[in-house]
Amino acid sequence: MHNIAVIGAGMAGCTLARRLVDAGRRVHVFDKGRAAGGRMATRVAGRLRFDHGAQFMSVRGDAMRARLPEWQQAGVLARWPQAAVGDSERWVAVPGMNALAPRMLWGAEFSAQTLIHTLGADRFGWWLAEESGTLPDCFDAVLVTLPAPQAVTLFERSTGAGLARFIDAMRQIRYAPCWTLMLSLSERLDVADCLRFPAGGALNWAARDSGKPQRDASRECWVVHADPLWSRQHLECEPEQIEALLTEAFAAAVGRAVVPVQRCAHRWRYARVVDALGQPCLWDADARVGYASDGCLGERIEDAFDSANALADRVLEAGANRDLPWVHAAEQHVHLR
Ligand SMILES: Cc1cc2nc3c(=O)[nH]c(=O)nc-3n(C[C@H](O)[C@H](O)[C@H](O)COP(=O)(O)OP(=O)(O)OC[C@H]3O[C@@H](n4cnc5c(N)ncnc54)[C@H](O)[C@@H]3O)c2cc1C
Repeated sequence: MHNIAVIGAGMAGCTLARRLVDAGRRVHVFDKGRAAGGRMATRVAGRLRFDHGAQFMSVRGDAMRARLPEWQQAGVLARWPQAAVGDSERWVAVPGMNALAPRMLWGAEFSAQTLIHTLGADRFGWWLAEESGTLPDCFDAVLVTLPAPQAVTLFERSTGAGLARFIDAMRQIRYAPCWTLMLSLSERLDVADCLRFPAGGALNWAARDSGKPQRDASRECWVVHADPLWSRQHLECEPEQIEALLTEAFAAAVGRAVVPVQRCAHRWRYARVVDALGQPCLWDADARVGYASDGCLGERIEDAFDSANALADRVLEAGANRDLPWVHAAEQHVHLR
């Protein structure tokens, strides 16, 4: 298997790209977003930047721990001491959470703003299509790394052996939503950099984003995450209403009036995994289609990383098999549908 498509450029997609490029494969990554990173996201609003998705990485396993020195030396990862809990360190990408992804994609081809609408397999391999038409390439394998409900939608529109079985498995994966408030304030708040809130209220977490390493500390910027249940109850509200409600809840939590210079709300429909699949990845060696994401293993960035590594292992094992019917078409890189 030489020519591989990866759909989604979050931690799972970037990990797959890194592993497969390092193993000598030609990898093309597609993402609907403007940039790579997925839920490891950084919103730029004028001169302000906010990590409005994942806040930090906690590292429990050896596989991810082994990558930390490389990312630190490359200047894209740093410790965030203010968020540490006991001995458990927290890491952030610098200068924003989305900074790790481009580094991981080195050597892969990357197409941003490319929403994959349909995929299918024919005798030349896998083809991918946007709503406007089929992309001009075919692939020996396709690896999907979207949040499970979005992957189910994609697979339901698609044709190809193995997809129906994947849909059944992926339907078990469930996510909690999260409304996020990004706030820039004119004055520094006299509170700790990270605030955790008990379940049952509007808030789940708040962090001084401008206090993270290599951020602009001259500005007082906060990211506030709503409680998962509260987010679900307010899922279809207008962002302006959420901005007002969460600003009020945050002011109550810090015990003083909060006057935003700028504020903005973002809704994550699929934020944190609450029911994971419980197996590292899905892979159909005959159909050459795979699925990896945090949804396979848990709610953290490292779960997405571990899932993608498991899938990369499967793909590379399968690639060791020399009897590959699609090699000829893949070498031509021509899609003759
Ligand atoms: C608010 C919030 C806070 C979080 N906090 C933390 C935290 O502090 N620590 C932690 O470890 N984890 C945290 N997480 C979870 C963490 O972000 C995820 O576990 C991890 O980033 C998931 O990576 P992934 O690659 O599986 O999925 P994603 O990052 O979601 O990547 C999937 C990609 O697929 C793309 N995509 C979707 N549909 C299509 C399509 N049809 N065609 C092309 N591309 C498509 C998306 O644009 C996206 O880039 C948080 C998440 C959120 C939302």
